[in-house]
Amino acid sequence: MPSQTTPAPTQYHIVPIDPHAHLYEVSVTVVDPDPAGQHFWLPAWIPGSYLIREFARHFVSVRAEAESGEITITKEAKDVWRAAPCFGPLVVVAQVYAYDLSVRTAYLDGTRGYFNGASVFLCPTGREQAPCTVDIAAPDRAFGDWRVATTLPSLDAPPYSFGRYRAANYDELIDHPVETGTFTTATFMAGGARHDIAVTGAPHADLPRMAQDLTRICRWQIELFGGAPDTPPPFDRYLFQVMAVGDGHGGLEHRASTSLLCKRDELPRPGVEEITDDYLEFLGLASHEYFHAWNVKRIKPEAFAPYNLAHESYTRQLWAFEGITSYYDDLALVRCGLITPQRYLQWVGRTVTTVLRGPGRLAQSVAESSFDAWIKFYRQDENTVNAGVSYYAKGSLVALALDLTLRSQGGATLDDLMRALWIRHGHPGVGVPEDGIEKIATELAGHDLGDFFTRYVFGIEDVPLARLLADFGVTMHLRAPTGPKDRGGKAANGDTPKLTLGARIAPDLKLTHVFRGGPAGRAGLSAGDTVVAIDGLKASGERLASLLQGPDSAKSHAVHAFRRDELRTFQVEFDMAPQDTAYLTLDENASAAVAARRDAWLGTPK
Ligand code: ZN
Repeated sequence: MPSQTTPAPTQYHIVPIDPHAHLYEVSVTVVDPDPAGQHFWLPAWIPGSYLIREFARHFVSVRAEAESGEITITKEAKDVWRAAPCFGPLVVVAQVYAYDLSVRTAYLDGTRGYFNGASVFLCPTGREQAPCTVDIAAPDRAFGDWRVATTLPSLDAPPYSFGRYRAANYDELIDHPVETGTFTTATFMAGGARHDIAVTGAPHADLPRMAQDLTRICRWQIELFGGAPDTPPPFDRYLFQVMAVGDGHGGLEHRASTSLLCKRDELPRPGVEEITDDYLEFLGLASHEYFHAWNVKRIKPEAFAPYNLAHESYTRQLWAFEGITSYYDDLALVRCGLITPQRYLQWVGRTVTTVLRGPGRLAQSVAESSFDAWIKFYRQDENTVNAGVSYYAKGSLVALALDLTLRSQGGATLDDLMRALWIRHGHPGVGVPEDGIEKIATELAGHDLGDFFTRYVFGIEDVPLARLLADFGVTMHLRAPTGPKDRGGKAANGDTPKLTLGARIAPDLKLTHVFRGGPAGRAGLSAGDTVVAIDGLKASGERLASLLQGPDSAKSHAVHAFRRDELRTFQVEFDMAPQDTAYLTLDENASAAVAARRDAWLGTPK
């Protein structure tokens, strides 16, 4: 019989030794190291962000010591170290550079500190399942007003304080990011669980308002997965860590928290009653990451159960884990009554527009996009628009189409699918096989949905949204864009250009993306070319816009552009502007039966 004794805890200590140099000192102590020489490894990627990030590149120095003194520690791979054989306890001390203002790694300066364990905590090889303690130490007295916001369970640290925390194993240790600094906080209850908000960088944001709106979103999601009121969520406590900046947007999901990066303007100001488009962006992001507490943190692809953090973990299912989550993030807002169905449909129109504007959707399926996230989605370049599709954007349209298909064919819904995934996979901790979602969907529909998955998930066909939405009293309209800032979702306001250049162009007239087969591309223009003149006259954004308003018949223009430092001339024949901008309207004449179906989907209007 193997020994049942619990392994000795791995002890971590992290201190901001030099905030102005962005340096943490992180130590790990192993009481009884491997007598043959203890190995240590660091993750190469962080769950939720599918790119090999090689966190070890930010390790500035690593040394080891034991009771006998300094121990030799040698690198054996880019993220693997081996300490020479010694008697414990063995302490490895690293200095880690932390200056990435994102939600994925670590950050430290004189205003705040933030870290994800995956980027700072070395794991002693073979002790992945050992319990961990982590002493989060305060910076020096100059930063005496700093506090700590994390969902790591406390060992002896009072709430919001520096001190000792714990984790059941390494996997848990690295799934609770830690924010330190001078944030503002609010608390609310949902599903019997305490929810905290900690906002850094926006001391005047209306936190009571955020708490009130997030309460509705969280309660709705808890109820969705619980299938009934008062079912508790799968965590005792949840934390929204919000970092407000001048410009930026992103989030990362964790089992009991999320780190959000948003624009300061996205947070509500006291006294402003309406939900502005900016604030709606924030609520959508918070709703998205919260939904992940079920969908991907607990209901996860087989390939992530467990995670292999040394290498890429391939799955063709990110369209479901990100796309279904993207579908529900905004749907939750209308279903919980925060926004009207009309406002919700405006956002769906924007997503349809995003997808339609990418010819790459006809080159890559969402299943392929999921698999290749590691080398394509997270490494977008000038050709992505021609060669790739977003498993977020198209994935959310596939989720919408699947929901409407289930609802119109027999009364099951995507809500039922999510509950089945929770009961069979999320709650018991069993990974979802690659064909698992299709099987459950087919079972709920009562007939084979293979054709749906072949066309829209594994194939490149556009989802037939106009037809599906019509059955729910919603009309989808297409029009030409009114200008570069037109994201769709609304009827045209003002003149729409009649012609197109077939390229995206920056304010300095540099082409950022050239659509394959479009006018610019046919004429030989490439991404990176900078337009300097048209028909022999100096070019400007206004002049280009007025040419695109031009006569209906396509006309040829001489476009002068620099490629690198060489001036070249291209004869461009503009095309008619594509009808690639979508907006959705409620059909006022829908029959009572259709309106009832729509209300069941979007919630009864209040
Ligand atoms: Zn996501």
